[in-house]
Amino acid sequence: MSEEKKGLNFIEQIIEEDLKNGYKKDELKFRFPPEPNGYLHIGHASSINLNFGLGLKYNAPVNLRFDDTNPAKEEQEYVDAIKKDVEWLGFKWAEERYASDYFQQLYDWAVAMIKNGDAYVDSQTSEAIAEQKGTPTEPGVASPYRDRSVEENLQLFEAMKNGETAEGEHVLRAKIDMASPNMLMRDPIMYRTLHKAHHRTNNDWKIYPMYDWAHGESDFIESISHSFCTLEFLPHRELYNWFISKVSTPQDFQPKQREFARRNLSHTVVSKRKLAQLVEKKIVEGWDDPRMSTISGMRRRGYTPMAIRNFATSIGVGKRENVIDLSHLEHFVREDLNKTAPRVMAVLDPLKVVITNYEEEKEEWLEAENNPEDETAGNREVPFSREIYIEQDDFREEANRKFFRLKLGGEVRLKNAYIIKAEEVVKDDNGNIIEVHCTYDPKSKSGSGTEESMRKVKGTLHWVSAKHAIKAQVNLYDRLFTVESPDADKEKDFLEFINPNSLAIVTGYLEPSLASAEALQHFQFQRLGYFCVDKNSMEKNLVFNRTVTLRDSWAKKSN
Ligand code: ATP
Ligand code: MG
Repeated sequence: MSEEKKGLNFIEQIIEEDLKNGYKKDELKFRFPPEPNGYLHIGHASSINLNFGLGLKYNAPVNLRFDDTNPAKEEQEYVDAIKKDVEWLGFKWAEERYASDYFQQLYDWAVAMIKNGDAYVDSQTSEAIAEQKGTPTEPGVASPYRDRSVEENLQLFEAMKNGETAEGEHVLRAKIDMASPNMLMRDPIMYRTLHKAHHRTNNDWKIYPMYDWAHGESDFIESISHSFCTLEFLPHRELYNWFISKVSTPQDFQPKQREFARRNLSHTVVSKRKLAQLVEKKIVEGWDDPRMSTISGMRRRGYTPMAIRNFATSIGVGKRENVIDLSHLEHFVREDLNKTAPRVMAVLDPLKVVITNYEEEKEEWLEAENNPEDETAGNREVPFSREIYIEQDDFREEANRKFFRLKLGGEVRLKNAYIIKAEEVVKDDNGNIIEVHCTYDPKSKSGSGTEESMRKVKGTLHWVSAKHAIKAQVNLYDRLFTVESPDADKEKDFLEFINPNSLAIVTGYLEPSLASAEALQHFQFQRLGYFCVDKNSMEKNLVFNRTVTLRDSWAKKSN
């Protein structure tokens, strides 16, 4: 293997082999084929990143194809959400296609297959058909309808199409091999009757193609070169090829199905069906609840497209299913937001500090750096006054030498402001501290260049001026499930593992620059984490969602 080859994943190696063996580069074409029966989740992000990433790498078109063959579960709402999510991730599809675009073509091919003796109408119940399937070690039993005449098949199939037959009365089956070691080859169902309106074809069709029949033919129609799907479709590959062989000649360009392992994320579920249950049972607020593993939920929470793409690229493609720890995704979220999110100060659990030697009416606007990681981000001003808030857990009456935050008799620097010293505490009748009285050193102003301002003090705290602070609702999210793989235990329902404390709502006190923060803007609340303005936030009713906590901070929260 050449040096360059070593860096390729196995999917890229397949493509390189094909190019070596005669595929032309301009024949490469990929697709991402979601079924519009729910919102996309982080598992889909892997597949999107793979397919569209290959498109970018080989400068090849990638179609967005909706696999919309089941009107009972599919909706326009999901189509719209899927398009929005793929675009938001930053990818552009060549063409927007729908399996339903091909219903007529698929029907015509099915008629031709009946005429060639490759398909027949079975009039048994689905239970009887299932019973006759056999087992992997025992061959199946042929349906009594397997040898119906072509005329009778054509007539019944047309009656199905016209809606003259009931749901479940007949199905169209491919006539392959009831003794095949591959159970999927034992006369698989191609069409069933569904008297349901389709979100695109309305009532035009009463019969709907099954996945295996529609998927490969759609790939064939669109001249997809490589059709990548998850590993559970490996046994379907034989059928995929068989169906295509029935509608093509060997000279036609043949799409290739290849499989990669599904990606799972810890402490959540990645299955539209299960995510739908969380929505229906109102365990979450909706598909875009910030605790959901959906792309829309992650967007609302404040994850960025770059973070999700970097995550997907870093886990890559594999041949074995695995669970990726959520912290790995969070790492990429922090990494991206660290570069881009403006720093601001907010206090979520306030303790009032009165600076007794600061004049009552005085206020100062102090310069604060917006982002030390980004020189172009500039500065802003934050107000300082006699009464400020700090976090409750940044103060202790007594603490050992390793406690670098504020303690009685001790000093800390207030970020962007002055050094203060705690002189005494005020308590309520129950002995709870309600105020800390401090003095400040007027010569210690940050950035003033004085000797006092450069004095070494161990701790630096964030704070907000009490009279200038604006209030906001702050949603603190935790993992939605208490265990790593909530759906791994087949004996138990995944809903048993819901974390009852996945959301805590607090009132935050924010520096006034945040009054005009707009929906989906990102910020770092210094020392607390990254936060994102909720989509429903309004100027007089601010709502922030905690995206992720900080891993490091300039004054350690721990002792
Ligand atoms: P779900 O069980 O959530 O409905 P699905 O595979 O049925 O998933 P589709 O809409 O059919 O969902 O998937 C579109 C594409 O995304 C398919 O190619 C599928 O293989 C891929 N995909 C779905 N889930 C994952 C995952 N967890 N990891 C990687 N790829 C995935
Ligand atoms: Mg599916």
